[in-house]
Amino acid sequence: MNKRKLVQFVIKTSKHCNLRCRYCYEYEGLADKTAITLEQIESLFRHVADYYRNLDFPVDIEFIWHGGEPLLQHPSFYWQAFDIQNQIFDHPSDRVTNAVQTNLTLLDRERLRLLSEGFDYVGVSIDLFGGLRVYQTELESQDRVLKNMDKLLDAGIRFGCITVLSKRNIDRIADIYQFYRSMDLSARILPLFKGAFDNQHAGFEITAYETLAAYKKLFDLWISDDKFVSITPISDAIQQVVYHYTPDAPTVFYDKREWECIYLVNTDGNLYSYADAYNPERSHGNIFTTPMNQLIDNEQHWRIVSDAESRIEQTCSNCQYFGSCSGYPMAEGSREYYEVDDRGIMQCIVEQGILKYIDFRFREIGIIDQDNYKMVLDRLNVNQEVNTALSYA
Ligand code: SF4
Repeated sequence: MNKRKLVQFVIKTSKHCNLRCRYCYEYEGLADKTAITLEQIESLFRHVADYYRNLDFPVDIEFIWHGGEPLLQHPSFYWQAFDIQNQIFDHPSDRVTNAVQTNLTLLDRERLRLLSEGFDYVGVSIDLFGGLRVYQTELESQDRVLKNMDKLLDAGIRFGCITVLSKRNIDRIADIYQFYRSMDLSARILPLFKGAFDNQHAGFEITAYETLAAYKKLFDLWISDDKFVSITPISDAIQQVVYHYTPDAPTVFYDKREWECIYLVNTDGNLYSYADAYNPERSHGNIFTTPMNQLIDNEQHWRIVSDAESRIEQTCSNCQYFGSCSGYPMAEGSREYYEVDDRGIMQCIVEQGILKYIDFRFREIGIIDQDNYKMVLDRLNVNQEVNTALSYA
C-alpha cells in the first residue's frame, strides 16, 4: 500500500480585513471586499478532487482559509462551501480537512459554532506585545482577541496561535513563551516577512540574526522546562537535530518535482508556489478555470520547480543537516525574506543557525556524545519530546 501524502491549499478568501496590522503583507488590499464566490470554490474543489483522486496513492487534502480576515465572510458562506465540498469529495477514500487562520476579533455565536463544528483546525494571530495589530482607528485589537481566546477555550475549541516577531516584541520572547506555556497552547513564532511596500516596517523591522537570537532563547527556555511546550519552529528543529544523530532515522529531501505539498490560491484563482506568491509571471495558472493536471504539467510550472531545485542545490548541498532538514525552507520560503550573497545564493541564516545552536547546546549539556556523534540516551533528563524522538533510535 502506498503511503498517504498531504497537500495543502492556502485559499485567500478575500483580502478584506477589519484590522490594519502595520506589518501586513496584504496591506494595500485590506479594504478590497472582493471575495471568492461559491461557484469559484466549486470549480476549485472539482479540479482538486479530479486530480488527487486519480493518483495511485491516497492523499490527505487540507484547505487553509486565509485572508484578509476570513471570518469577515458570513458563516453561511463557509457552511455552503463545506456542503459543496462534501458533495464533491464523496469517495470513501477522500480525506479532506479545513483550517482557518483568523485575527479572532469577530466572534459572535454563529462564528463560534463555525469554528467549533465547521473547521477542523483554528489558528489565531496574536503578537502579545508591541501594539502593531490595530484597527483602522489605530486602536489595538489585542484585548478583544484575548477575550475571544477565552471564549474558544470555554467552548472547548482547540486552537494554535501565530506570533510575528518584530522589534516591538522580540525583547519579550521569554514572556511570549511563558504565555503559551501557561495557556497550554501551541504556537508558531514567525519572523517578520517583507511588507507590502517600501519602508512599511520602518521602526520595527528585525534582522535574520535578531530572529535567530530570539529562537536560541526560545530553545533555551524549552530545554530547561520540565513541561512540554509546542513551539514551532523550535520543536521541528530539535527533531531535525535528533534525527541527524539518530542511526537509521529517515532522511527527508523536499522533492518538489515528485510531490508538491503546498499551494497558494489567490482571490482571482491564480495558483502559486509559496516562494512566488502574487508574482503573476510565476503563477502556475488559474485553478478556477483550469484542471489541476494542466496546471502542474506545463513548461512554466516545471521551470518554477527547477528554480526551487536550484535554490536547494545551491544553499543546502553543503549543509550538514541536509537530509534531516528537507531543504523545504529554500524551496518554498518567501524568497524576499532570505538574504542573498553576492553570487545571488540564498543564505539560510535562521534555520541552519538554530540547528547549529541546538547541536552545540546538546553537546554542551551532554546529550550528544562528542566522540561518536551518537545520542547518549541515558543522559537524557530533558523533556518528553526529546525522549520520545530518541526512543526511536
Ligand atoms: S538548514 Fe537551511 S541550508 Fe540546511 S538543509 Fe535546511 S534549509 Fe537547507
